[in-house]
Amino acid sequence: DPSAPDVAPDGVAARPQAGAGEPLVVLRDVNKHFGALHVLRDIDLTVRRGEVVVVIGPSGSGKSTLCRVINRLEPIDSGTITIDGAELPEEGRELARLRAEVGMVFQSFNLFAHKTILDNVMLGPVKAKGMRPRDAERRAKDLLDRVGVANQSAKRPAQLSGGQQQRVAIARALAMQPKVMLFDEPTSALDPEMINEVLDVMTDLAKDGMTMVVVTHEMGFARRAADRVVFMDEGRIVEEATPEEFFTNARSPRAQDFLSKLL
Ligand code: ADP
Ligand code: MG
Repeated sequence: DPSAPDVAPDGVAARPQAGAGEPLVVLRDVNKHFGALHVLRDIDLTVRRGEVVVVIGPSGSGKSTLCRVINRLEPIDSGTITIDGAELPEEGRELARLRAEVGMVFQSFNLFAHKTILDNVMLGPVKAKGMRPRDAERRAKDLLDRVGVANQSAKRPAQLSGGQQQRVAIARALAMQPKVMLFDEPTSALDPEMINEVLDVMTDLAKDGMTMVVVTHEMGFARRAADRVVFMDEGRIVEEATPEEFFTNARSPRAQDFLSKLL
C-alpha cells in the first residue's frame, strides 16, 4: 500500500527522508501515445517528499516523455498526475502555477545565450513570480555560489564550459524554488571530465533533502544517491527497487539484460 507510512519492523518510524515523506508527485494509470506509438503504458508512480528516484532504461523506453508529462510539456491521453495534492489541469493559470513547482534540467542546457549568467538565474523569479530584482539577484548569487560558479556571473553562457553551464541551469531551476526537480540525462552532453562536477551538485542537492526524479545512465550516481530505482522498458515501469536490490538482484529479465550490457 503506497499510502501506508514507512515503519520499520520494530514499529519505529524509518529515517525521515528516503521515501517516508508524503506523496509529492503522483502518476496514476497514465497513458500517452504519439500517433500509433504507445509511449507511456499504465504508469503508476509515487515520488515522496525528499525522495530521489532514478529512472533508467533503454533508449526509446519513454523516460524523457515521463519527465515531460510531469511538467505538462506533453499532454497525456488518460490517467492523472498530481503535484503536492493538486491535479495537473490541461491548461490555464493553475497549470502555470503547478509548472513553476517543478524544476527541470535537460541534456542541453538551454541558457539564454545573450544574457549574463546572473541574468539567466535572476530572470525567472523576476518575470514569472514578480520578485524584486534586488531580491532575485541576492538569491541568484547564493545559488551560483552553491553550484560553484559565483565567479562566472558576469559572463555569457558560451564563455563557460559545458559542466559550468549545466550547473548554471541547475541554479536557474532552483531559483524558482521548485518542490521537485526533474533531471533528464543532465550529463549526457558533457565531456567525461565534467560529468562529476554536475553529479556532485546533484548529490549535494539530494543530501539537502530536495525531491528529485533523475533520468541518467550514470549507474554510480544511481547507486550512491537513489532511494529508489525505476526501470522502464517499452513505455512501462517494469521494475522498482532500492539500488542495492536492483544492481545485485534485478528480478525482470529485461532489467537483467539491460544491466549486463552496461558491463
Ligand atoms: P527515452 O527518453 O527513454 O529515450 P522518449 O520518451 O524520448 O524515450 O521516447 C519514447 C518513444 O517516443 C520513442 O520511440 C520516441 O521515438 C518517441 N517519441 C518521443 N517524442 C516524440 C514526439 N514528439 N513525436 C513522436 N514520437 C516521439
Ligand atoms: Mg530521453
